[in-house]
Amino acid sequence: MLKVENVNVYYGAIHALKDVSIQVNEGEIVTLIGANGAGKTTLLKTLSGLLTPKTGTITFLGKDITGIHAPEIVKSGLIHCPEGRRVFANLSVEENLELGAYLRKDREVKEDMEQIYSRFPRLRERKRQQAGTLSGGEQQMLAIGRALMGRPKLLLLDEPSMGLAPILVQEIFNIIQEINQSGTTVLLVEQNANQALKIANRAYVLETGKIVLSGAANVLRASEDVKKAYLGA
Ligand code: ATP
Repeated sequence: MLKVENVNVYYGAIHALKDVSIQVNEGEIVTLIGANGAGKTTLLKTLSGLLTPKTGTITFLGKDITGIHAPEIVKSGLIHCPEGRRVFANLSVEENLELGAYLRKDREVKEDMEQIYSRFPRLRERKRQQAGTLSGGEQQMLAIGRALMGRPKLLLLDEPSMGLAPILVQEIFNIIQEINQSGTTVLLVEQNANQALKIANRAYVLETGKIVLSGAANVLRASEDVKKAYLGA
């Protein structure tokens, strides 16, 4: 579904992604783990067209999307749920969800919104509430709901568990699994490597801009190197 080949991204003189190659197959949950500053967010921003690689190619559903304008990428079904939730604080819950469907031309937006409300009953209860007044967990659910309103084929999730209470972290991971089981492929960036590896099929480890390890998630979870570096063992 997604193929990233030898991608190099720079911020001025900083070489943030170094020859990164990854692949995501239809139906998978793939996780990208790595320490602070490893380049995880940079990779997601590059996939969604917010950053342009200096070299390398990104192919999505058989089409070269390298350097394409971000809205075109969204239209093709690659949708980014950003780090730190980034909901529109002054708009209501419902308005945030509507914006997630901004580029859609079909008439099923209302039906999809109903589905989101069924998945996240808290959002239904609060549909007229200003998004900025929601709790952290509710904002995260809204950010995911807004991304789902774009009907992603591939959903990019950047640190969805960040800053949430442990019980909510578990809930978010359950929701990600449900979203995947209902047919959406997921690329998940996480600092919570243990939980991410539990729900993922495959994983990549990014270190200072380079992929240093990849493989089946259960194999990586059992690896001594990964345990030492990322699982607090
Ligand atoms: P975190 O988990 O802390 O968000 P990350 O793995 O997502 O980390 P990135 O945010 O992708 O890491 O950052 C990768 C590197 O690029 C870091 O060294 C960071 O300082 C640098 N970087 C990120 N954004 C910019 C920017 N706008 N300008 C300059 N350097 C940047």
